[in-house]
Amino acid sequence: MSDTKVPDKLYQLTGDNVASVGKGLYVVNTGLWRYQRPVTDPDLCKRCSACYMYCPVGCKVELNTHYDTNLDWCKGCGICAEVCPANAITMFEEVGEE
Ligand code: SF4
Ligand code: SF4
Repeated sequence: MSDTKVPDKLYQLTGDNVASVGKGLYVVNTGLWRYQRPVTDPDLCKRCSACYMYCPVGCKVELNTHYDTNLDWCKGCGICAEVCPANAITMFEEVGEE
């Protein structure tokens, strides 16, 4: 068993998202890590679910017309855009709140 401590920056205790990290159960708002966001074109999406399967934080949401993203969890890694066979997902830089 590892005694590795979780750095303070990796979790917050005020969000809604919960993840198992190391030995404990921590609230991890992975959406705060994002500097770019995926935007899906519903007309191009074939609903193949590749983005759903490859998203490392499980934040893809199946809608009737296409797969979209729960931005509370999306960390902006861009994997979904890379694996999408229809090029339906474009990554856009986040515009920070000043
Ligand atoms: S990978 Fe692309 S085509 Fe497939 S469900 Fe996701 S957005 Fe749609
Ligand atoms: S950018 Fe990364 S975290 Fe966000 S939806 Fe795509 S695969 Fe998931």
